[in-house]
Amino acid sequence: MSKEDCIFCKIANGVIPSATVYEDSICRVILDINPASKGHALIIPKEHFDNVYSMDADTASKIFTIATEVAKAQKAELNPDGLNIIQNNGEAAGQTVFHFHMHLVPRYINDTVNVTWKPGESDKTELEALSKALRKRI
Ligand code: 5GP
Ligand code: ZN
Repeated sequence: MSKEDCIFCKIANGVIPSATVYEDSICRVILDINPASKGHALIIPKEHFDNVYSMDADTASKIFTIATEVAKAQKAELNPDGLNIIQNNGEAAGQTVFHFHMHLVPRYINDTVNVTWKPGESDKTELEALSKALRKRI
């Protein structure tokens, strides 16, 4: 899909109207049209990045700074019992809109939102080898 056809490029840049809760030169924060819970918000950069892999550190930093502000606003307005901050990359991870976005999903006791997984098992030697391999790449 070209950037011209990207719905989040259009939403972030105001070409398509949205329920906006915050906007600056870097990003727009909107309410999700199919919310997982009341107050589910999306932080969308105005520049097109397919996913986290193509995003620069400055934009990433700005987005998480805004996330802390949005989280506090949601807490003050909605008084949720918790909050999940989620960011999907790739179809296998559940990404459906291929323009980077961060989800802020307020959580309420006994809600039906499902973002959990079954804890797996690990092998100490394998964890040590993998941590060493990854450390070399950062
Ligand atoms: P993803 O699955 O890619 O991580 O999340 C995409 C999110 O964008 C979904 O939660 C979906 O409901 C939301 N979404 C898709 N199209 C629109 C839209 O046109 N407006 C708004 N506000 N949210 C959208
Ligand atoms: Zn885009």
